[in-house]
Amino acid sequence: MTGNGHTADLHARHRAVIPDWVSLYYRDPIEITHGEGRYVWDAGGKRYLDFFGGILTTMTAHALPEVTKAITEQAGRIIHSSTLYLNRPMVELAERIARLSGIPDARVFFTTSGTEANDTALLLATAHRRTNQILAMRNSYHGRSFSAVSVTGNRAWSPTTYSPLQTLYVHGGVRGRGPYAHLSDARFIEACVADLEDLLGHTGDVAALIAEPIQGVGGFTSPPDGLYAAFREVLAPRGILWIADEVQTGWGRTGEHFWGWQAHAASGPPDVLTFAKGIGNGMSIGGVVARAEVMNCLNANSISTFGGSPVTMAAGLANLSYLLEHDLQGNARRVGGLLVERLRAITASHPFVREVRGRGLMLGIELVRPGTDEAAPEAAAAVLEAAREGGLLIGKGGGHDTSALRIAPPLSLTVAEAEEGAAILERALHSI
Ligand code: PMP
Repeated sequence: MTGNGHTADLHARHRAVIPDWVSLYYRDPIEITHGEGRYVWDAGGKRYLDFFGGILTTMTAHALPEVTKAITEQAGRIIHSSTLYLNRPMVELAERIARLSGIPDARVFFTTSGTEANDTALLLATAHRRTNQILAMRNSYHGRSFSAVSVTGNRAWSPTTYSPLQTLYVHGGVRGRGPYAHLSDARFIEACVADLEDLLGHTGDVAALIAEPIQGVGGFTSPPDGLYAAFREVLAPRGILWIADEVQTGWGRTGEHFWGWQAHAASGPPDVLTFAKGIGNGMSIGGVVARAEVMNCLNANSISTFGGSPVTMAAGLANLSYLLEHDLQGNARRVGGLLVERLRAITASHPFVREVRGRGLMLGIELVRPGTDEAAPEAAAAVLEAAREGGLLIGKGGGHDTSALRIAPPLSLTVAEAEEGAAILERALHSI
């Protein structure tokens, strides 16, 4: 059902002018016109509980007054670029992120997107190590630039096979359906480490491993805690850098930790950390954190005209303050913990549900064709449509066969809203 006639017309105009490869959710895509808290409204006035937060961009809440006020006040003073002159909000946000990152002697470079952040991380790693060989994870997603797609293992999101990098794909981010599927966590880590060592035996110098602590687009997969610590023991003695892509997992989303890498904490912080999405609560902020020795290895100028622009930085500062002062990481742990229990209960005997996984407010439900281990993309699409009819927005993801439902609400989700969303999802799951 479309919001109204105007929305159908807009869809036709979208089709006529926007590239075919920009995908939209739903048979009749939604035009979101406004939002408040954890809810958004479409052009026809229908209200939806937002369990996907604009793919994690609305990290805190829609129309959060503190962030809106910071944006308007800064916009009233000046809307400007971040380069050539001193920029107070940028320095202040960089100082706070440097402290929070756990990376010693950290430097922060702001970009406008996660793609540009990863692109910069790869530029740094290859320049620092003087090689273009990169390790990436199977089923990964790191963005849409030329270098980011060439470390994206998820073929559904890697539209070219030409690559400026020589990329080798490592096991570990997802268990898949092969020989790794049924190993215990400890045996799985052992097998992945053996695979990595074997791979390194056949390569020359490698610059870095880039990895998402939990794969986002890949379907909110959950590698066992400690996997990257074990990888690090292999990589660090060889000087190979670890780039943690925290674009989806950062800022307390996983509840137990502020950063996804902390689930692998024995290894300490990554050499390079990239972030984006949620920190601006919808404004375009991305960035890279690395220790000075790595960050300062570039010996030519490199700027981003809009990365770190004062209006986005004002939003980031207000949003970060809000989420720390209101302990939204703790909220993600508490409310996410209740939600995952509820989802396990309602899906326990559902023939399509293979697994409920994730942590905090980053939860995935993997669907299969009943009685088989085969992906069920048509079922995922049907649940998405049914949930939308019921007034709930969720996401989907996974490998080429998009078969996982993804749940990532704003971090301020209340218990009552978690219950409301679970009830709608239960009805949607029963409709297939
Ligand atoms: N890395 C990860 C883990 C992501 O999920 C995404 C976006 N889905 C990106 C990078 C790219 O971010 P952006 O779309 O802001 O370029």
